[in-house]
Amino acid sequence: MIVTAKIPKSLLAYCQKHEDKILDVSAADGYSEGYCYDILLNRGWCTDEVGLHTIIEPTIKRTLEKLRSIEPCNCRDCKTGEGWK
Ligand SMILES: [Zn+2]
Repeated sequence: MIVTAKIPKSLLAYCQKHEDKILDVSAADGYSEGYCYDILLNRGWCTDEVGLHTIIEPTIKRTLEKLRSIEPCNCRDCKTGEGWK
């Protein structure tokens, strides 16, 4: 798991606990909602929306809600590995 921003402890702890599902944890300004947490999931996992492998949310609360909704994913990208380089 790669962490490329200062992530609050509560969020980081959850990510570390579920490291098998998470590839990259980041945060940055410049999204439509301003400063957002940006999480890229590992191949084979998606959010509650099938085929969606990123979580971009402006608050810890919403990011954690999305993280709790992670499910196994069998979409085309996960099968071929496209998007995971
Ligand atoms: Zn997928």
